[in-house]
Amino acid sequence: MTDCIFCKIISGELPCFKIYEDDYVLAFLDIHPVSRGHTIVIPKSHATNIFDILPNDWMHVCETARILATTLETSLGSDGINLMMNNRQNAGQVVDHPHVHLIPRYKNDGLKHWPSARYEDGDAEQVLKTVITKK
Ligand code: 5GP
Ligand code: ZN
Repeated sequence: MTDCIFCKIISGELPCFKIYEDDYVLAFLDIHPVSRGHTIVIPKSHATNIFDILPNDWMHVCETARILATTLETSLGSDGINLMMNNRQNAGQVVDHPHVHLIPRYKNDGLKHWPSARYEDGDAEQVLKTVITKK
């Protein structure tokens, strides 16, 4: 797509710090890292997010994320990693090209997980019923 930043990185029109590339995916350093080595994995064919990425592209993105998780940890000396994908604006997606964030974690890095809550009585059962009905 012509006005997609990540497609421009794929075509070489915009620069990036490339971590890995093959026929299906590109992985590069996030320009505003959450942690040292924060990497983004993207499919080479344009889509928007998890809702329209092709299954084969998703498979390659996931497998690359799996391999790079070990590569990053081994080479950077990090201890743990968060994988994250924002889908749609309401979920924090800013760039409309599917991407998985790999965020290496370091001892005492101070990064916090998002807050959690509890289900009201009976609500988990209600959710289950609704999800199964709409499958
Ligand atoms: P999102 O919020 O859509 O999940 O994340 C988009 C990510 O892309 C952000 O973390 C942002 O820092 C990164 N980003 C945006 N533009 C560029 C760019 O031109 N180059 C690189 N390397 N990363 C970018
Ligand atoms: Zn794109």
